[in-house]
Amino acid sequence: MEKQGTIIKVSGPLVVAKNMEGARMYEVVRVSDHKLIGEIIGIDGDKASIQVYEETSGVGPGEPVYSTGETMTVELGPGLLQSIYDGIQRPLPLIQKQSGSYIKRGIDVPGLDREKRWEFKAVKNNGDRVVGGDIIGEVEETSLITHKIMVPPSISGTIKSIKNGSFNIEETIAVITDENGNENNVMMLQKWPIRNPRPVKEKAVPNRPLVSGTRILDTMFPLAKGGAGCIPGPFGAGKTVTQQTLAKYCDAQIIVYIGCGERGNEMTDVLMEFPELEDPNTGEKLMKRTVMVANTSNMPVAAREASIYTGVTIAEYFRDMGYSVALMADSTSRWAEALREMSGRLEEMPGEEGYPAYLGSRTAQFYERSGIVKCLGTDGNEGSLTIIGAVSPPGGDLSEPVTQNTLRVTKVFWGLDAKLAYRRHFPAVNWLSSYTLYMDNIKDYWDKEISPEFAQLRTEALGLLQEEAKLEEIVRLVGTEALSPKERLTLETAKSLREDFLFQNAFDKVDAFTPLKKQYWMLKSIMNVNHVAQRVIEGEDFNFDELLKLPVMERIVNAKNLGANAEDDYKKLWEDTEREILSLRKA
Ligand code: ADP
Repeated sequence: MEKQGTIIKVSGPLVVAKNMEGARMYEVVRVSDHKLIGEIIGIDGDKASIQVYEETSGVGPGEPVYSTGETMTVELGPGLLQSIYDGIQRPLPLIQKQSGSYIKRGIDVPGLDREKRWEFKAVKNNGDRVVGGDIIGEVEETSLITHKIMVPPSISGTIKSIKNGSFNIEETIAVITDENGNENNVMMLQKWPIRNPRPVKEKAVPNRPLVSGTRILDTMFPLAKGGAGCIPGPFGAGKTVTQQTLAKYCDAQIIVYIGCGERGNEMTDVLMEFPELEDPNTGEKLMKRTVMVANTSNMPVAAREASIYTGVTIAEYFRDMGYSVALMADSTSRWAEALREMSGRLEEMPGEEGYPAYLGSRTAQFYERSGIVKCLGTDGNEGSLTIIGAVSPPGGDLSEPVTQNTLRVTKVFWGLDAKLAYRRHFPAVNWLSSYTLYMDNIKDYWDKEISPEFAQLRTEALGLLQEEAKLEEIVRLVGTEALSPKERLTLETAKSLREDFLFQNAFDKVDAFTPLKKQYWMLKSIMNVNHVAQRVIEGEDFNFDELLKLPVMERIVNAKNLGANAEDDYKKLWEDTEREILSLRKA
């Protein structure tokens, strides 16, 4: 490492150095003789502003800055899964072992194990022509996931040699001769700069849902695979539970979970809990298909800023293998605050609420890395990256800049509501304010795979819930007596929708996950009561108490306990509903 410049100012995580000629934006430098890890985020003449990812106390003017010549990159290759990294991809368990629970400064641990050997199975042969992104071999990384080894994006040519066997990630597994006759040694380890999206052949339009098993999300406000969604909510409304339920149950093959350091100890909770979670489909540990990026509370703010880029780059890498990947970031507000703090120290012109003017563009750049894509290789693989970001608006005020900027780029809004959480209605997603813009994208999938009736039932149900909110006003003023039988029925149906469909306990083994088809059956059971009852109540003196006492009503409350394949049971329920309700008809 070569000395490059001299520190002239230290302000928390920001260090300014002079004599930095030749420095490049986003270059990694080492700061002071502690060799603290920093990244150049501003250049002005021979002065460079450096964002330092470690505690800068005790560092002062006059101390050296060393150049590394590298940009901020992540290491990609076998060994990513099951890892827990800090914001700059240092494996947390390893640095803790080296330095105790309070991370020592200047510690240098590579993101991927250099010693470990992996069984590499070639899927291409000598003489095959390959381009960047082509899969040339496979490694059983965990019992759940096969890691596809790809030609790095910048390389193409003819395979001169490729071999099966046991290799570490730095050994040559293939040699590719390019057009000009140059030989490129390909190893399993690749590096990629975290701030640059990885290239794809093309982005496609999302056309199928990411199924999470949570009814209010999947049925009412579905998110598309390759889409972007946001979960804003005040403290205690259920952001973390929702993100974790998604991580556990959503039908993405790979999960990248970024903890941006919510409150003091929360990250430690996540770090303890997450590795214990079981993959409901296989009974194996969820970590076997998960990568975690976490900022512990003793890491400076700057690391939070990097963590979302580190996480999303890893997610893109798995997408490029043709996997469906879901990335959860909890909470992006902490990331935005880190941005604000650095911007303040850089003495930039502040925008709204002190956030930098580029908050909006940075937020967009992050979410725009989601998508359903044709992968770079010639195999025609398709991969997807779905991004779900939690936002914690102070005081639940959704007009604040982080929420607003996020809403501008995400197409799904799952608004968590403190009032619902207080009433213990979970998931506390507000059905009046939440929305999805993916309905048109996924409707064909619903029509074909679930039922042509599903979308219509959803629209009706949402309509009833909106109607309920209006009627509640009237009831508050003049009581239920003032309502027509039809309005009364609306209230009963809406109540049933809320209590028997939208309410869902994330901690109940059976209830936590409902397959999409079963969501349709449940919804239809409830809406069926409404439809049949409408035929009966018209123009008659209808007795609601009799309706509520019908045996089928109890069965609808318990419909969530019917099995995931119990189509016949649901059909029977619909028939019985019709028969019992019609029997109420006055002769
Ligand atoms: P936040 O991250 O928004 O501060 P949490 O996700 O920690 O909030 O949720 C707070 C509490 O609310 C949880 O500890 C849990 O008791 C309850 N909770 C949230 N969502 C659910 C859910 N889907 N099912 C059951 N309980 C929930």
